[in-house]
Amino acid sequence: MALSRPERQPVAHLADEQPRVTGTYHCRVTEPRKRVLLAKPRGYCAGVDRAVQTVEEALKLYGAPVYVRKQIVHNKHVVSTLEARGAIFVEENEEVPEGSTVVFSAHGVAPEVHEQARERNLKAIDATCPLVTKVHHEAKRFAADDYDILLIGHEGHEEVIGTSGEAPEHIQLVDGPDSVDQVVVRDPAKVVWLSQTTLSVDETMETVARLKTRLPLLQSPPSDDICYATQNRQHVVKEIAPDCDVVIVVGSTNSSNSVRLVEVALDAGARAGHLVDYASEIQDEWLAGATTVGVSSGASVPEDLVMEVLAHLAERGFGEVTEYTTAEERLTFSLPQELRRDMKAAAAAARAS
Ligand code: SF4
Repeated sequence: MALSRPERQPVAHLADEQPRVTGTYHCRVTEPRKRVLLAKPRGYCAGVDRAVQTVEEALKLYGAPVYVRKQIVHNKHVVSTLEARGAIFVEENEEVPEGSTVVFSAHGVAPEVHEQARERNLKAIDATCPLVTKVHHEAKRFAADDYDILLIGHEGHEEVIGTSGEAPEHIQLVDGPDSVDQVVVRDPAKVVWLSQTTLSVDETMETVARLKTRLPLLQSPPSDDICYATQNRQHVVKEIAPDCDVVIVVGSTNSSNSVRLVEVALDAGARAGHLVDYASEIQDEWLAGATTVGVSSGASVPEDLVMEVLAHLAERGFGEVTEYTTAEERLTFSLPQELRRDMKAAAAAARAS
């Protein structure tokens, strides 16, 4: 994906020239100016926005409770907020009472999950991100052409389970560069790699390079599987990280793209990196001696949590905030078709009554 590279911001630490008098000596003590580099893009992506809205609209339309299979997005705060409004999060369809409404999360599900929902007579609303669905379609298409598919991703991640379920007999997981040696294919001339949408771009390219040393005819996906939001958030963090004493990423520990942002920051030269769900988790010792703090947030993080982090930092002297922008995002997705259809019918019924 082509990304515009902005003029680099000046990064020199500016000295505070205010003289201070200490004891009986007159001396000039210079204190470096403390500042925040705020990454943009950050926070909600189009797929998360759509998934969260799906649950909110379902609650309005059908009333509570609305069941949600798995965390709708991987963020503690989002999940607890929706729970407070009447969403009930479950692990599997069998926990959902027969005939109830269930929303499938943004990470996608295997076809058998749809089948289970039909058997239990559940009203299923699929909030799978369209960019995850795109990878499902690729998997189905290459499986139909009898390819071996090497799915680069993290073992046990819901998205990987969902994508693998589309063609389990054709897909094998490659969990990072160290797994490459275990790959076994039937025909080295008929192999393609696909990936989870939220991986580290650099680590994925390393895995692909190693795969290609073993499988020179390995084909690439028809278009990037690592989504625009993951790429954009990593790109801007890479830009600011070399100038940061510490980078704070707002996000949950089970959020793949948030965890990757901390890794990317450290790889790009940040001297320290931390993942926090809330501002209150920031420890003062992380900021001791720091003059520049980088701030970003994962794709499932609402902006108010980032604002709380900025307020927390301002109280500790980091009041100067410079937003560093590497891309503008305008992508939006419409709500799932089944929900839109019901919303339209409800609006028509309300007009008729
Ligand atoms: S991170 Fe990417 S794939 Fe995941 S929900 Fe957001 S846009 Fe979709």
